[in-house]
Order: sequence, then C-alpha cells, then structure tokens
Amino acid sequence: MKRAWVICLLILVSLSTANIFGGETVKEIRIVRTPPVDRINSHYQGNRPPLRSNPLLKLPPGQVEARGWLLSQLRLMASGLTGRLPEISRFLQADSGWLTLKGRGWEEMPYWLKGFGDLAYLLKDPELIATARKWIEAILKSQQPDGYFGPVENRDNNDLWPNMVALACLQSYYEFSGDRRVLDFMSAYFRYQFGLSEEKLLPGSWQKLRGGENLESVYWLYNRTGQGWLLELAKRIYRRTADWASPILTAERDRHWEESSFYHGVNIAMGFRYPGVYYQQAGEPGLLAALERNYRQVMEAYGQQPGGMFAADENIRPGYGDPRQGAETCTMVEFMNSFESLLKITGQVIYADRAEEIAVNSLPAALTPDLKALHYLTAANLISCDSSGDHDFQNSGTLLSFDPWKYRCCQHNVAFGWPYYIEHLYLATSDNGLATIFYGPSMVNFKAGNLGKAVRIVQDTNYPFSGRIELTVYADEPVAFPLYLRMPGWAEKASISINGGKPREIKAAGEFAVVEQTWKYGDRITLDLEQSIKVHFWPGLGQAASIRRGPLWYSLEIKEEWKRAGGSDDWPAWEVLPASPWNFALLLDPKAPAKDIKLIEERPLDYQPFSLGSAPLVLEAQARRLPEWKEEGRMVGKVPASPVSSRQPDTRIRLVPMGCARLRITCFPWIKAN
Ligand SMILES: [Zn+2]
Repeated sequence: MKRAWVICLLILVSLSTANIFGGETVKEIRIVRTPPVDRINSHYQGNRPPLRSNPLLKLPPGQVEARGWLLSQLRLMASGLTGRLPEISRFLQADSGWLTLKGRGWEEMPYWLKGFGDLAYLLKDPELIATARKWIEAILKSQQPDGYFGPVENRDNNDLWPNMVALACLQSYYEFSGDRRVLDFMSAYFRYQFGLSEEKLLPGSWQKLRGGENLESVYWLYNRTGQGWLLELAKRIYRRTADWASPILTAERDRHWEESSFYHGVNIAMGFRYPGVYYQQAGEPGLLAALERNYRQVMEAYGQQPGGMFAADENIRPGYGDPRQGAETCTMVEFMNSFESLLKITGQVIYADRAEEIAVNSLPAALTPDLKALHYLTAANLISCDSSGDHDFQNSGTLLSFDPWKYRCCQHNVAFGWPYYIEHLYLATSDNGLATIFYGPSMVNFKAGNLGKAVRIVQDTNYPFSGRIELTVYADEPVAFPLYLRMPGWAEKASISINGGKPREIKAAGEFAVVEQTWKYGDRITLDLEQSIKVHFWPGLGQAASIRRGPLWYSLEIKEEWKRAGGSDDWPAWEVLPASPWNFALLLDPKAPAKDIKLIEERPLDYQPFSLGSAPLVLEAQARRLPEWKEEGRMVGKVPASPVSSRQPDTRIRLVPMGCARLRITCFPWIKAN
C-alpha cells in the first residue's frame, strides 16, 4: 500500500511539471509593448537610416500561406468578384487607358490590380499571375522619357492620385519577383515628381487628401536604393498633402460637411495615418499622438458601434452617428491597410486589434458568402438590404443590395482586403525573430536568428472561432530566435505552453509575449486566449449594448430572404430581406450583464464560415420585443436610449457572429432585469 502511494505521489509530481509527457515548463516569457525600435533586421528590407527603424517588417508575398478558412477566402475571391472582375467591369477592358494610354483610366484598374496581384502571389496561381503580369507590363511600358507614366488623361488633369495606387501594385510585384525594372521605373517617376514646381505637386482634389500613399512609396524606394534626394521629395510631398495632423472634426467643417473632403469616409480611413507615416522621417512623437487623437475623436463621435468602423455613408454627417448609418466597403479595406501600416511603423498591438476587428466582423458582412457580389454600405444595425433608395443616406439610389455590377470603387478596391491581411499574419521583428500578428490557419517560411536560418512555422487553429492556437516549428537544425506572440487587447486571460508542458498564465493583453529560446524541429507552442462573453455599453449611443466574445461581435440572427434583383445568371444581384422580427431589447442585469448569455452551439467550420447557415458559433440571450422600436422608411429606427421598458413576454434570442449575418442588429437597447 505504502509503495503504491509513493508511486502515485511521484506520478503527481511528474504531472505537475508535465515531464512525464516529454513536455517542458515554459522557462522564460518576456512581456513587451513592442519589438525593439533601435534594431535593424538583417534579412528583410525595413527602413534605412535616417528613417526610424521598423519594429515589425513585412515578409515578401508568398512566404505566408493561408490554410483552412483563410484559404477559402482567397479561393472564393479567385472564383468570385476579384478573380473574374475583367468579365464584367468596363474599366478592365482592352480600351482601358492603362493599356492604350489614350483611353480613360483612373483609379479602378489599379484598385483592382493591387489586390488581384497579391491574391495571385498568395495562391501562387500561374494563370492569375499571368493576368496580373499583363497589366504590370502595360504600366511599365507606359513610362514617358520624363518619367511620367499611365494614361495621358491623368497627366492632362495633373492628377497623380491613380498613379499612387499603381505604385503599390508595382511594389508588391517587385517583392514577389525581384524584377529590378520596378526600381528604375519608380526612380524615374519620382524624379519627374521632384522636378514639379511646388504648386503643381498635389495641387488639390483626391491627390491632395491622399498624398500619404505617395509618401509611403517614396520611402519604400528609398529603402531599396538609398537615393538621398528621395527624402527631400518626401518632405515636399508631406508638406503638400492635406494637413491630417490637425483635428479632423471641427465646427467649421460640421457646418459645411457636404463640401469638406476631410469628412469623406474613405479619405479619413486613409488620411488619419499620414502623420504616422511621416513620423518615420520626422521622428516627432507628436505626430503619433496627433493621429491617435484624431482616430479617437472620429470614433467617439461616429464609431459607437461594433466592427471597427465609423458611420460615414459617404461623408460623415453631423447628427448621423447611429449604427444604422453604415460604412463604405472601400473605407473598411483602407482603414485595415492604415492599421497594418501603423503596426509596422510603431510595433503596437492596438493597430493589429483594430485591423482584425474589421476583418473578422465588418468585411465578411460586406459581401455575399460566395464573394461574388458586394454592397456599398454595411451597417452594424441593418434590417433590409433592398435595392430601393428609401434610406436616409447622403447618396440616393441603390446602396444596400448585393450587386457585382454596381458600386464602381468598392467593386475594384475590395480586392486588397484579405490578401494584405493574410500577408500580415506574420511579420519579421527588428531583432531577427518573428511575430505572430493575426491568428488563423496558415504556414510561414522565414529567415530566423542572426544567421538567417530557414524556419517554417505551421499554425493550426480555428481562430477567431476558437481561442486555441497551436504553432509547430520546423527547422533543419536548432536555431535561436525570439518568437513574439500578439496578445489581443481583449485577451485578459491567456496561457502559453511549450511541447505539452504545464500552461503558464499570461497577463499581457495589448502587448506581446516573447518566447526566446533555441527552437528545434517539432517544437510546439500552444496559446490559449480565453474567449469569454462580454457586454459592451456605448456611452455615445444612449448606453446601447453589444455582445462580444473574443474578437467576434454578435448580432441578432434575422432570417434572410434572398431575392434576385437583376444582374445576369452568372453574376446575379440580390436583395436580402428580413423574414423574422428584429426589434428586441436585451434583458440585462447591468451589474453582471453577461451572466445569462450562453454559448449554445459550436460547429465545425464550413468552407465559408461567414454565412448565416454555417455560423460556427451561436449565443443565446434573454430579450423582449420592443414594439415602439420601428422601421423608419426601410431603415431600422435609431437605437432608443437605455434602459427601456417593455411589457412583452420574455423570450430567448439567438445571436451569430456579425460577419455571418447579412441582416443584423448588433447594438441593442436593453431592459433592466430584476
Ligand atoms: Zn468604394
């Protein structure tokens, strides 16, 4: 008996250090706010001095491989709107000014190519790559002796904006192919810009508002060629770009909101980051503070809603901050891109959180699940995607039905949302390590440690639908490098274990947990991010409540009636109309608001998890109908201030991830539960 007891005790001791399974207790985990800002990665191109060093650096396209549900998004894009847009877009035909130089050719083609090219490189699809090459070659061939390129009409209009987008296409192509013609081409084009008089450089209109895109490309080239005059050009471009460091919202602009380009949703999503872009050269921390102040100012006034967006149905409109107002699809992908850019400049997790919130909540909701059609406006509260103009938006006409033929800008620009996001799943760190940024099923190949040894990491996970992430390291020989794990701002409870060892609790929400060791073939890291149900109250929206679990927001499940609304059989357009009630108020105890909300269904992931029929997770909450919350026109009424009261019977409602629902209530009024 005594002997058996001793053996038992020994097993328990072994279990507690988990060595019995060959596991290891995590020895050292550092918590840091950002990777070092005073180091330079030896293997990947980041900023060249005197530009400030990048704590995080992009890997060349093709190093990150999507798997699982992320790969489905890329494949659906390829067989959907982005991959086959030349079939239906009048801007992608043989008479395009980008091919003929003489015809019309503005932002549409480069908008599309920017995402289409990266999609092709990510999928390593020869046919898609060949199509991208056709347009890239045409851009390269269009260069004039003085360095200008692109359709003559843009030159006649002295409009550099469409070329800013085209430069991004060339940069990705260079990173993928190493084709040095791109460097000479960009050098010659920037010489042309350098030769322009100050008044002719970004004189007005979109190009003036969006000059920071041009600025980023100048830095990109400088980092690869070291030509000092590029930094002079950069200063000039920043000086000539609209002033985004001053407060965006002002009383004067409020009065003339319709005319102010600073109030245009897409411009805000792009422009607010430019002080951060210039910070790389100027080094003034005040620039970062200014962009953060501006972001908060806009979000406090118009972003009182889940999904990471702000209400701007074209421009932001004073008095129109309710979550029914919606955000343009272009604004979503541009906002994501801005956060991805600021993430590399500052190394701060908060920018990854903000991009992720849009990607896994708002972006999927902007398209049909087959990624063959999209709409102009997506709103957190949206009860009818009809094709009528019976909505209180700045623009008239159809803005909500899903249509592959309409919405000229978004139709092309949506292409870069997922590809850029997937390219940022992993970033190299300034100290020759790797950071996992956006979690999702995937694989990455990169050069690690001071000697740049080849390492592969495979990530197995159903994130964002699960908080468990398994990373397996594959390296031919042991290699020492720091592995930075992003701890999202919501991840208050998390743990890390190595090789099946005892999990170690990590308190590092909004920071990085760094595991630094010599990694060997087959090492496994398990990261558990506890996804608990939380209720968020929006102070600027009458204390309306929204429900969150991990990175996903949840919306009322409204039965969807899909009705054909024109288009062709190959490319149909759809209205989505409600077939079940939507006017519910949650029944909440404000002291413990999440206590009666339960996860009731958890299903394996479908090929496309972002549809109502395949919602992988379902929550249930207590609610009552609120009869006085009514439709206004064909819009949902504004969210009434809470608490509200209702004599209707208690009922249980089902909630699905916001990105699964094409009709939704995500901001709820609520009743005080007794
Ligand atoms: Zn658009």
